[in-house]
Amino acid sequence: MSDIKNPGNTNPLLAGLRGRCPRCGTGKLFDGLLDITDQCRECGLQFFGADAGDGPAVAGIFILGFGVVGLAWMFELLVQPPLWVHAVVWTPVILASTVGFLRPLKGLTVGLQYKYRAVDEPEKLGGQ
Ligand SMILES: [Zn+2]
Repeated sequence: MSDIKNPGNTNPLLAGLRGRCPRCGTGKLFDGLLDITDQCRECGLQFFGADAGDGPAVAGIFILGFGVVGLAWMFELLVQPPLWVHAVVWTPVILASTVGFLRPLKGLTVGLQYKYRAVDEPEKLGGQ
């Protein structure tokens, strides 16, 4: 674990979007593609309490749903391809953009939890 460099200058939301630790901005937030790591290797911040839940998926559904349906609609109006072309074109677009959107949205959610202290809150009396 190294010293924290300029911890006050890190924007937790931007760091989360980039997949970096919301406290130090340099350590990796993800262990693999979408799994949140247990602890930042740079500053030691623990992510055990970080739970993005369904928020990133719901936000991604709204953003991608409007975007892909709009693009498919424009493609249909301009090109008027057969239906199998839509299936061939939009299936990989949807799969790739889903994974591409989910990771930054999940990082943003963890950054929001860190900024508004949803993770590091001290335990309340009674263990709740
Ligand atoms: Zn860190």
